[in-house]
Amino acid sequence: MGLRALLYYNQRDIRLEDVAIPVPAPGQVLLRVTDAGLCQTQINEFIEGPFIISRKPHKRTGKSIPIITGHEFGGIVEKCGAGVENKNIIGSQVAVLPLMSCGTCYYCKKGSENKCDDMVMIGLLGENGGFAEYACVNIENIFPVQDRNLLTFIEPILIAIEAGCKINDIRDHKRICILGAGAIGLSAAAVFRDFFGAEVVINDILPNRLRRAKLAGFETLEKDKLQREYDIVIDCAGSSSYSKRAALIEGLDYLIRGGILLNMGTYFHPVHFIPSYLLISEQQIITSFSYTKADFQMLPEVLAKLQVDFSLVIERISLDDIIEGVYYRAEVDMDSFTRLVVVP
Ligand SMILES: [Zn+2]
Repeated sequence: MGLRALLYYNQRDIRLEDVAIPVPAPGQVLLRVTDAGLCQTQINEFIEGPFIISRKPHKRTGKSIPIITGHEFGGIVEKCGAGVENKNIIGSQVAVLPLMSCGTCYYCKKGSENKCDDMVMIGLLGENGGFAEYACVNIENIFPVQDRNLLTFIEPILIAIEAGCKINDIRDHKRICILGAGAIGLSAAAVFRDFFGAEVVINDILPNRLRRAKLAGFETLEKDKLQREYDIVIDCAGSSSYSKRAALIEGLDYLIRGGILLNMGTYFHPVHFIPSYLLISEQQIITSFSYTKADFQMLPEVLAKLQVDFSLVIERISLDDIIEGVYYRAEVDMDSFTRLVVVP
C-alpha cells in the first residue's frame, strides 16, 4: 500500500508521488497526518534552494533529496514501533517537534540543541516530513495537543520562546514591533505579548495579512504609521518579492538608539546596509534559530498563557492541491492567506 506525499527534488522541482507507507522503527510512532503548515522557509527552498534542504546524504540518517517536505505538522498516532511503552498514545492527537539533535556534540552538551553539529530537521534536513498522509517520528519528537488548530503552530511557538529567552531582559525592552504577519510573526507576537508581557505591534506590507492579524486580536499598524520608537524590532518577514527593502534593514528605521533588531526570517541572498549606522546608534542585529530542549520544557506554561484563536488565520487545503494551491499560490499571492494548512 502506498501513500501520497510531496517530494522536493530540487529548486522548482517538487512532485506529488505515491511512496511506501513507512514502518515505525523502534522508538517511533506512525502518525496519520491531519495538518501540515506551509512555512515561508519551504517556499524559499522551492524558489531559491536547496539551502537547508541538502543534496548530500545526512551524516546521521543517510537521507538526502528527494525528501518529503513539511516541518510544521501533526496528526493522530496510529501505531507504535517496538520499545514504545506508552501504548495509550495510540489515538492521541500530537504535534511534531521537528528538531532531532545529536545529543553528543559541543552544542548539544551545553543545551544549545538548535546549533547541533549534526542536526536533523524533520521535513527539511535528513528526515521526511509532514506533506504526506503518514509519517514516522520518534516518540520524543511528539507533543500531545488538544486543539487541532494549534498543531502547526507548536514549532513556531517554540521558535518564539527561544527568541524571547535570548532577549533575557525583555521586560526592560517593552515596546516591540514585529515585521511580518505570517505564522511565525503571529506566533512571536502571541508569545512576546502573552507570556513575556511586552507591548507588541505587528506590521505587514500585505494589507489583508495585516487585517487578519487585527481580526485575531493583535495590535497592528500600517507601514506609514511606523516611527523610530521601538526597543526591539523582530524581522519575521525574511526574503520577500513584495518589498524592495529587506525587512531586516528596514526594521532598523523603527529602532531607538541601542535597540535590538532580531532576525527570525530567512534570506538566501545578500542584503546591504551601512555598518556605521549601527555603530553610531549602538543598534544590534541578533539572530535566533529554531529551539532547544529548555524551550520545550517551557511549552506547557507558555501555551497556557496564550490568548489567540489560531483558527481565525488558518485556511486548509487538500494535499492534492499542494503544488498549485499552496506552493504556487504562496509565491504569487501571499496576501490571500496567513496560514495555509495542508490536509492529506
Ligand atoms: Zn549535537
